[in-house]
Amino acid sequence: MRKKSILYIVVPCYNEEEVITETTEALKKKLDSLIKKNLISRKSKVMYVNDGSKDNTWEIIKSIHKKEKYFTGISLSRNMGHQNALLSGLMTSLKYADVVISMDADLQDDIDAIDAMLIKYYQGCDIVYGVRSKRKKDTLFKKGTAHLFYRLMKFMGADIIVNHADFRLASKKVLDELSNFQEVNLFLRGIFPLIGYHQDIVYYERKERKAGVSKYPLRKMINFAWNGITSFSIQPIRMILVLGILIFIISIGIIFYSFIRKLTGNTVTGWTFIVCSIWLIAGIQMASIGMIGEYIGKIYQETKRRPRYIISENLLEKKK
Ligand code: UDP
Ligand code: MG
Repeated sequence: MRKKSILYIVVPCYNEEEVITETTEALKKKLDSLIKKNLISRKSKVMYVNDGSKDNTWEIIKSIHKKEKYFTGISLSRNMGHQNALLSGLMTSLKYADVVISMDADLQDDIDAIDAMLIKYYQGCDIVYGVRSKRKKDTLFKKGTAHLFYRLMKFMGADIIVNHADFRLASKKVLDELSNFQEVNLFLRGIFPLIGYHQDIVYYERKERKAGVSKYPLRKMINFAWNGITSFSIQPIRMILVLGILIFIISIGIIFYSFIRKLTGNTVTGWTFIVCSIWLIAGIQMASIGMIGEYIGKIYQETKRRPRYIISENLLEKKK
């Protein structure tokens, strides 16, 4: 059983002045109750990350910090995007906390799931994913695109947890490992499953945004999905190779077919040669591009410099 831990809740905020006061009230109550239940240390805090907001978000965070001892914040020099904001918050809280939970500023993630996450943490889990059991409150469009997104990611070979966004608990040990992932195109949902250790899931119902509007318009959503796929999979490159090989095989069929047409005298002069050439060359070309792509894919994976392994226990060190 782990000792009573210092919890940091990391909340990225981009233009969230309309909702942040309400979020603060809710989180304050939550922290109070967690402390009363003896689940977390009194040194626990909420860390707001101001992601270059253009409104008064940072001023509000500063005044909350002055009034409330459980609240603190960091501010980024400009808007760096949700994933980078989240990472900066996780890496900063790592210095002070034993365990960190990340969540959105709009209270769509059910903060009552935090208790269950912490219980799993004390039982030995190092990562606990918040998974949405129902999305009643989301629009049909959001539900549809989200579904498509998870299906596509799985198809492309990225190992992500379905219906999990960035509401998650991670122990200090896991965040230490996360700091070894040096990639610039961040897609945290894909990285956490790679880290390993004991992982579990807590289900919750996704709520409506309390105030303000979504900071993820369709353009950003497509960008995010595209980044997720291209950061975790060289499947698209492989598809070119497969297509090339397929066209090459078809071209062999076409060659047979055109010879039969030629022998039966069903062609104009030169037709056989042109048709065979087009198919054969197209197939060879595409397969070649795919081959080159395979190497580019390898270079791309090498440049990420991801850790190749993570040792969870070393018996030699334990003896000391
Ligand atoms: N966010 C951020 N930087 C951005 C966009 C969003 O820090 O560039 C934050 C935002 O303040 C919120 C969270 O990321 O706390 C999720 O955004 P939002 O709720 O708008 O996304 P949705 O739930 O609609 O997908
Ligand atoms: Mg939201």
